[in-house]
Amino acid sequence: MFDTLSDRLSGIFDGLTKRGALSEKDVNEALREVRRALLEADVALEVVRAFVEQVRARAVGVEVLKSVSPGQQVIKIVHDELVAVLGSDAQTIDLASVPPVPILMVGLQGSGKTTTTAKIAKRLTEREKKKVLMASLDTRRPAAMEQLRVLGEQLEVPTLPIVEGQSAVQIARRAMDAARLGGHDVVLLDTAGRTTVDEALMSETAEIEAVAKPHEVLLVVDALTGQDAVNTARAFDERLDVTGIVLTRVDGDGRGGAALAMRAVTGKPIKLIGTGEKTDALEEFHPQRIAGRILGQGDIVSLVEKAAQDIDQEKAAKMAKRMQKGAFDLNDLKEQMQQMQKLGGMGGLMGMMPGIGKMKKQIDQAGIDDKAITRQIAIIQSMTPKERAKPDLLKASRKKRIAAGSGMQVADVNKLLKMHRQMADMMKAMGKKKGGMLGNLFGG
Ligand code: GDP
Repeated sequence: MFDTLSDRLSGIFDGLTKRGALSEKDVNEALREVRRALLEADVALEVVRAFVEQVRARAVGVEVLKSVSPGQQVIKIVHDELVAVLGSDAQTIDLASVPPVPILMVGLQGSGKTTTTAKIAKRLTEREKKKVLMASLDTRRPAAMEQLRVLGEQLEVPTLPIVEGQSAVQIARRAMDAARLGGHDVVLLDTAGRTTVDEALMSETAEIEAVAKPHEVLLVVDALTGQDAVNTARAFDERLDVTGIVLTRVDGDGRGGAALAMRAVTGKPIKLIGTGEKTDALEEFHPQRIAGRILGQGDIVSLVEKAAQDIDQEKAAKMAKRMQKGAFDLNDLKEQMQQMQKLGGMGGLMGMMPGIGKMKKQIDQAGIDDKAITRQIAIIQSMTPKERAKPDLLKASRKKRIAAGSGMQVADVNKLLKMHRQMADMMKAMGKKKGGMLGNLFGG
């Protein structure tokens, strides 16, 4: 996500990094590009203007620190402003109230409201061990009610039984009563959507709000609709007491404009982002991380901080050297995977490393995810030291032994070896580029 904007901005800053001192002209030039990139990302003009002015006010006249380049200095300022616009701290769903805590889900039809309701139910059930009840209030679209029921069945989260002929307000009341009787912690009320913001929708939703007294009113908006998403948010917020925004389809949003403008225009925090159709494709919104991604510089600062805490620097430097020489054996791979786990797993790492977006395809193809990493470490641990250093030794009988030892199949061992080979090749190629990604990561 956010690739387009990030590419644009990193192009601009590449130019700046190469120049010596940071003049007012440089700042203006960079800001012109920032402005253009943001407008192309479909960020509303008023937001872009305010943003650029803030950065200018902070950037011009600032002394360039000795230890950083002028480009880095501007990036830092743009970064900090982005974080401020995106809403400083990560916020998540607030459940601090007397159970059953009602959460009202609102938004236009097709925004992903029902899917998001199910995603949130799954998350609260699995991660926070909450007893959740879902109810569809979409009296006009029986299919929508059925959709929620089916999702509930799949996720094993109870849904309020459908009773024909009831109004949305009646259903909301029934849901709250059922939750009280059933000892539920949270009630997710999935309201009806319309294709556009209209008066009937707004007054019905406001009525439900008055009856259910939701602790959270989460507005679901489709990131792909760009500025329209922001206008929708504004319209909903005028009528309802929106407490947070869920931005869906961020997986398909190459521009990032909606994310950027949403907070600035509505003043409401983005609490969660939808990153796919599956029910686990829901993530917390981290302004710091998103700002880093938008800039395409990666979150180098936090990577360095975390790395300093967690990584044995000497070991890392040694490994970086070995990698650049193309010596990357299975021991190195294991070390790498273990470090990756310390750094917050694949997801954490992907967002933090500049340029890693380009490697994403290889990584996906290789099937590296966090669970897979644990299994792959287990496979390597079943090998002898010799085998780890010389993967070529691994013929059929050894593979069988290793698979048995780690509780996996020979095919899994083969997959790991193939991935290792590909990574070793890739690292060799990257090692040749001086000061490339690995240089940044390992200080080599
Ligand atoms: P509703 O009418 O607002 O309830 O929308 P739905 O929940 O039925 O979602 C409409 C479509 O969007 C469905 O096909 C969903 O699978 C899809 N969808 C929802 N959220 C996301 C998301 O974050 N990413 C992607 N790619 N698709 C999503």
